[in-house]
Amino acid sequence: MSDKKTYRKLTNEQLWQKCLDFHGHDCGGLTVGFKAALYAAELLDMDFSEDEEVVCIAENDACGVDSIQIILGCTAGKGNLIFKIQGKMAFDFYDRKTGKSLRLILKKRIKDKKKMMDMEGKDLFDVTPVHFSFPEKAKIYDSHRCSLCGEETAEPFMLKKDGKKTCMHCAGKDTRGGA
Ligand SMILES: [Zn+2]
Ligand SMILES: [Zn+2]
Repeated sequence: MSDKKTYRKLTNEQLWQKCLDFHGHDCGGLTVGFKAALYAAELLDMDFSEDEEVVCIAENDACGVDSIQIILGCTAGKGNLIFKIQGKMAFDFYDRKTGKSLRLILKKRIKDKKKMMDMEGKDLFDVTPVHFSFPEKAKIYDSHRCSLCGEETAEPFMLKKDGKKTCMHCAGKDTRGGA
């Protein structure tokens, strides 16, 4: 009766095609994310996240995150795909409904993409406790006009320059806290 979005109505081939269409090219990295998303979903009984029920903290910003966006609905725009770049093929997953979480780390790189596709999740990834604490829900902030350029800017991104509230661009900063 529910018309909730689910990846489970699709065959693995159809799902892989969706990932390919979104990502643009066929590669090993996309396969890692594909296997990670399906394995995490199996272990935590998660499905596509229409809102922000499922959260992924990616410890890399490589191709694999695109599969996770397609399969689990973790997206940059919804705030449930977060990057904490560690240079590791690791992904922390959280399910807000159950409060459960886990982290997957690729055991070792498999050069043969076809072989990787046929491998079991448990043979590809080690499962560990998450490395990052459970993220808060995406916040909605008040916006104010920058006193210099007049553009609306979210409150936490405003700085003080000569006693006036300005946006970061006008204050000469690239990003919040230089992060
Ligand atoms: Zn790629
Ligand atoms: Zn400004």
